[in-house]
Amino acid sequence: KLSLRGVQKSFADNQVLSGIDLDVHAGEMICLIGASGSGKSTLLRCINQLEAIDEGSIWLDGVDISEPGIDLAPIRRRIGIVFQSYNLFPHMSAIENVQLAPRRVLKQSADARTDKAEALFNRFGLAQHMHKYPDQLSGGQQQRVAVIRALAMEPEIMLFDEITAALDPELVGEVLSVLRHLRAEGMTMLLATHEMGFAREVADRICFMDGGRILEQGKPEQIFTAPQKPRTQAFLKAVL
Ligand code: ATP
Ligand code: MG
Repeated sequence: KLSLRGVQKSFADNQVLSGIDLDVHAGEMICLIGASGSGKSTLLRCINQLEAIDEGSIWLDGVDISEPGIDLAPIRRRIGIVFQSYNLFPHMSAIENVQLAPRRVLKQSADARTDKAEALFNRFGLAQHMHKYPDQLSGGQQQRVAVIRALAMEPEIMLFDEITAALDPELVGEVLSVLRHLRAEGMTMLLATHEMGFAREVADRICFMDGGRILEQGKPEQIFTAPQKPRTQAFLKAVL
């Protein structure tokens, strides 16, 4: 379980997170929605400790992972993150990209790594592409490889930041289907998305962010059909 309590973050005099309280339970899929600049990416980056928080605390299974000086490597292994820009290494094949971190960090044998990586490519329908280089793959395939690369570390929680935002529309579906697949397997997920239809269909819970706060949260049906706050109503009216 991941818990955030009173998380605050500023960049210079710009307060971007203004007191976030959030619990993400095992197996839960939470979608963060909200206007550009509301703090969704910053929240995900703070959870993964890519940014240090100013106030509050972030707990992973009872351990305060926001404490200064804590060893970040094991935390980043347990909390995977995938961004809009997939950033595969261009000089490595898809499977080499996937095996890189397990080789350096998990110190598994070469055979174990290969078996695991191949199983992941099979599971996500990319087996025929695993020896190709990134420039031989479509954007959607590259993004699916980026997801597989994160999964190869066997994270307990996955964070996704707008992972379909840079894709051509016809490639969005194949990446969203990977997320559906992960959800069916019970992966704990927190994702920032502008794909409202997808969020409504798959999320266990929607959190609407506004000005660095979670202004409103609830089941998708409730948020999309009967939002309580005027700001949520205005946002949904603009995007739906
Ligand atoms: P979008 O929907 O456009 O992705 P977002 O909800 O993810 O928006 P953030 O990227 O978290 O929003 O940005 C929130 C605010 O924090 C913005 O005002 C942004 O300019 C500011 N910000 C984010 N990262 C930094 C940084 N590294 N340095 C300074 N300001 C930053
Ligand atoms: Mg963002």
